[in-house]
Amino acid sequence: MSCVTGLLKDVADVGRATAGGYARFAWTTPDLELREWFAAEAAARGLDVVVDRAGNQWAWWGDPDADGPGVVTGSHLDSVPGGGAFDGPLGVASAFCAIDALRAHGVQPSRPLGIVSFSDEEGARFGLACLGSRAVTGTVAAGRLLGLRDDDGETFGDVLAGAGVDLARYGRDDEALARIGVFVELHVEQGRYLADLTGTDEAPVAVASTIWPHGRWRVDLHGEANHAGTTPLAHRHDPMLDLAGVVQDVRAAATSAGALATVAKVAVEPNGVNAIPSRVRAWIDARAPQEGAVRAVLADLAGHTPVEESWTPATVFDPELAARLAAVVGRPRSGDPAPVVGTGAGHDAGILAAAGVPTAMLFVRNPTGASHTPAEHAEDADCEAGVVALTRVLADLLLGEAP
Ligand SMILES: [Zn+2]
Repeated sequence: MSCVTGLLKDVADVGRATAGGYARFAWTTPDLELREWFAAEAAARGLDVVVDRAGNQWAWWGDPDADGPGVVTGSHLDSVPGGGAFDGPLGVASAFCAIDALRAHGVQPSRPLGIVSFSDEEGARFGLACLGSRAVTGTVAAGRLLGLRDDDGETFGDVLAGAGVDLARYGRDDEALARIGVFVELHVEQGRYLADLTGTDEAPVAVASTIWPHGRWRVDLHGEANHAGTTPLAHRHDPMLDLAGVVQDVRAAATSAGALATVAKVAVEPNGVNAIPSRVRAWIDARAPQEGAVRAVLADLAGHTPVEESWTPATVFDPELAARLAAVVGRPRSGDPAPVVGTGAGHDAGILAAAGVPTAMLFVRNPTGASHTPAEHAEDADCEAGVVALTRVLADLLLGEAP
């Protein structure tokens, strides 16, 4: 069994959800178990483990304070509800295996190498994705984060305090940031781009170019509550019909703009089977390679005005770094550079890039193209190819003229 398959197998039973997939939410028992696993794997390799002010774990080969900034790789260990086995853990496990491979090849790094496991990347518990990387970079103020509540009403601050985190120090950590010279996150691909490449184009690993701009909007549709059995159809003010129109409009606009748009969360009042709704509230998630295409989705929703709840601009990863790493990774058959592709999914790497850290991402082929479901997958051979690619990339950054 390869190193990376073995490490994933070690954690395969942690946080299994009864309905399938995983429930590894930040600071819950499975997450704490994974943090222990991270510390143990680091210790087994003689790496120094540091927890930053935002609760993210770092394992260092070498001393980043004396000889840094260092080269950093890693990802996250938490999951969405019903998440798969690869989204997150593949990047952390591959990082440990890449260190093993560098050592087996006798590489003596001229600068420190770090592995990071970012806390709460998925935002499944407190509703804010990339919470750990936003906190360490100061992208969101600590005070706002500590007041977030989970579905049980527990505040993030209370949860952290219960886990022994020092709340007085919680938040942006300039010392931790100063240790990062360059960050490379390896992640399972969340689509079918690589799976669809065939012949000499074939590639098990790609390099990221951008993370698409992304927004979330809310639409409030008002009506009049009344009895489902006694109100004639002609006398109804039923906002559910407006919702049907909005869903169709969003889909049509996304199709013509070349965007991805989704209506997947709806709140209905009073939410009774036999009551005409008084209000329907729906949320729209829209993403596209260009901001204009995202905005086009919201432009004409049959007279309804969407309220913007969040906007995340595009992340453009350093194009020179991406091109260099694509050449280092290569394609197995042709020897051409690895594909350089954009993605619609958010990542800690995007938060770091926005904070000014030279950042790159590697994607490992996912034959199902599925993500945030137990159906996500990566073949053993492709996981190994990911480790080989990451090892080459790290060697290049450690020994070459790295940013
Ligand atoms: Zn992920």
